[in-house]
Amino acid sequence: MSATPPPSDDEIVGGLLQQGLDVAYQPIVELASGDLVGWEALLRGQLPEHGALSPLHVVGSATRIGALDTVMRQVAEQALTTASVASLRLGRSMTVTVNLEPAQIWPGSPFLQWLVDRSRSCPAQVLLEVTERGDETAWGEEQELALDRLQAAGLGIAIDDLGTGVSRLRLLARRDWTWVKLDRGFLLLGDRGLVLLRHTVAMLHELGTVVLLEGIETDEQLEIARTAGVDLVQGNLLSCPMSADALLAHLVDTSSPRATE
Ligand code: C2E
Ligand code: MG
Ligand code: MG
Ligand code: MG
Repeated sequence: MSATPPPSDDEIVGGLLQQGLDVAYQPIVELASGDLVGWEALLRGQLPEHGALSPLHVVGSATRIGALDTVMRQVAEQALTTASVASLRLGRSMTVTVNLEPAQIWPGSPFLQWLVDRSRSCPAQVLLEVTERGDETAWGEEQELALDRLQAAGLGIAIDDLGTGVSRLRLLARRDWTWVKLDRGFLLLGDRGLVLLRHTVAMLHELGTVVLLEGIETDEQLEIARTAGVDLVQGNLLSCPMSADALLAHLVDTSSPRATE
């Protein structure tokens, strides 16, 4: 009996584009108030013979065959549609974040232009997360110019996974980032990690940036976030990534007035 060979990049991307990608949503909460401020859209996909595929695997395959913008357009379309429904239902504007790779950020990008146009008709605030993980050569003046234009068009931008890559502090100095998302790795470095966390948060606050800590799994980690002065939190302790339907149900649960009190 031979095992099913791993799918090729073409099989992965072709299969997902044909059957439809899925998007999971993970709530983002303001630490001080406990209020839901929005959610991150995370790519999900599975192929019949291979089961669930990790989003990083899909992003890698799509990048290698030049189809990342096509894949991300489907993700963003779903994310913005869900965010519109949710914002209208809640009667207030929520933030939806979409992950982008640095290589997708360049001034003439038709995908970014589409995102800007599409965001205009979305009542939610659209915030793009750009990871610092990965290829450090993929960042330069082109990216800076494209981000200037995205900000000017009213989109939010965040550095994602700060602490996992080559943290170029120059990037932090260059502009007002809407948010900076700190990787959960800060929580796994013991006491010295907590010193880094505390001072990184203080530095980012002095730069006027909202700070989010990702991957909170325990009450103790939530307390660490609180002590360090983190503004926003995200993680399985608060809420795991969920389907659009589950998110909409969650909104009703968490936002309904406490009529019974
Ligand atoms: P990320 O952007 O940092 O997203 C957060 C990841 O942490 C998600 O993994 C999420 O499921 C996971 N996570 C959430 N809460 C916890 C927790 O409490 N503990 C732990 N250990 N993990 C938690 P996921 O969905 O597997 O995504 C992995 C990465 O794949 C993302 O990291 C992001 O870099 C990338 N990715 C996901 N969706 C997309 C996408 O649509 N486009 C692009 N370019 N990249 C994506
Ligand atoms: Mg992210
Ligand atoms: Mg992240
Ligand atoms: Mg992360």
